[in-house]
Amino acid sequence: MTARLLDGKRLAAQVREQTAERVRKLSARGRPPLLAAVLVGDDSGAVLYADSQRKKCAELGIEYRLERLTADAGPRRLAELIGRLNGDDAVDGVILQQPLPKGWDAAAAQSAVLAEKDVEGVSPQSLGLLAYGRPALLPCTALAAWELVRSSGVGVEGAEAVVIGRSQIVGRPIGLILLNNHATVTTCHTRTRDLAGTARRADILVVAAGRPRLVTADFVKPGAVVIDVGTNRVEVADSDGRQVKQTVGDVDFESVSEIAGAITPVPGGVGPVTVALLLRNVVDAAERRLAGR
Ligand code: NAP
Repeated sequence: MTARLLDGKRLAAQVREQTAERVRKLSARGRPPLLAAVLVGDDSGAVLYADSQRKKCAELGIEYRLERLTADAGPRRLAELIGRLNGDDAVDGVILQQPLPKGWDAAAAQSAVLAEKDVEGVSPQSLGLLAYGRPALLPCTALAAWELVRSSGVGVEGAEAVVIGRSQIVGRPIGLILLNNHATVTTCHTRTRDLAGTARRADILVVAAGRPRLVTADFVKPGAVVIDVGTNRVEVADSDGRQVKQTVGDVDFESVSEIAGAITPVPGGVGPVTVALLLRNVVDAAERRLAGR
């Protein structure tokens, strides 16, 4: 391997340390930041996730409040609850746990969260602010990809950046973040004609397609910074020939790490940074609200 490894776990630990320090300062000024999580129904994955969020918040000194609704409460009760959290001065950030019950409009519920409390950064208002280059809470995964680009030390201004993927939560916002930082950005998707040729132009290549090992060495300019957002569960044969599940990215790490200048691993790259940045967004939200008072 010739590429430098961009270690997401190490970067996440640094982000957590800095965030904890900011929490201490906020607490000294009055109270710690408070994250309110809304969970509808009893999906076991969502309940586990909420539990892990509570622990991560506690580690940094962030208050965590879980608001639960039963699945039969209906979207109107959810809208009322979000409205109450929006208006509650003690609440700095609101996160809507997925999935919502079948048939509920998740996008509408997310849109109801006030932009200044939208710590997931996924509401249309938050994306609109990002598109306008105005201060906003940014979507955590796109922000994680950006922080990893920054950690590589690559010069972004004027650089060719190529993003593979145009989803609202990853591809579009990372493209906008790169653009706002003066990269020349090309966004690719399933209709892109020459994906490998376009990707090969990139000094910075961000891949968020959800296609295991889509990007091979022939997609990569020598020395490029490659950020792999993909998280795919695939079956591979272990040393005894048994099929086991493994997490792989959208980038063929083995071949690409021989040509790239720097690369993120999967797992251990974008994922841990994303989790740490959600909590940093809570602190950003709390500090901005305090400053705006
Ligand atoms: P998504 O909503 O499915 O979007 C995938 C995007 O990739 C689409 O824009 C699609 O193009 C494009 N695409 C798919 N196959 C392609 C191909 N063969 N060539 C070119 N473009 C292609 O996925 P997402 O939510 O953005 O997530 C992307 C990946 O990131 C997934 O693996 C997901 O698990 C991972 N992820 C990781 C984290 C984390 O914290 N690490 C968080 C979120 C997501 P079209 O628009 O034309 O369909």
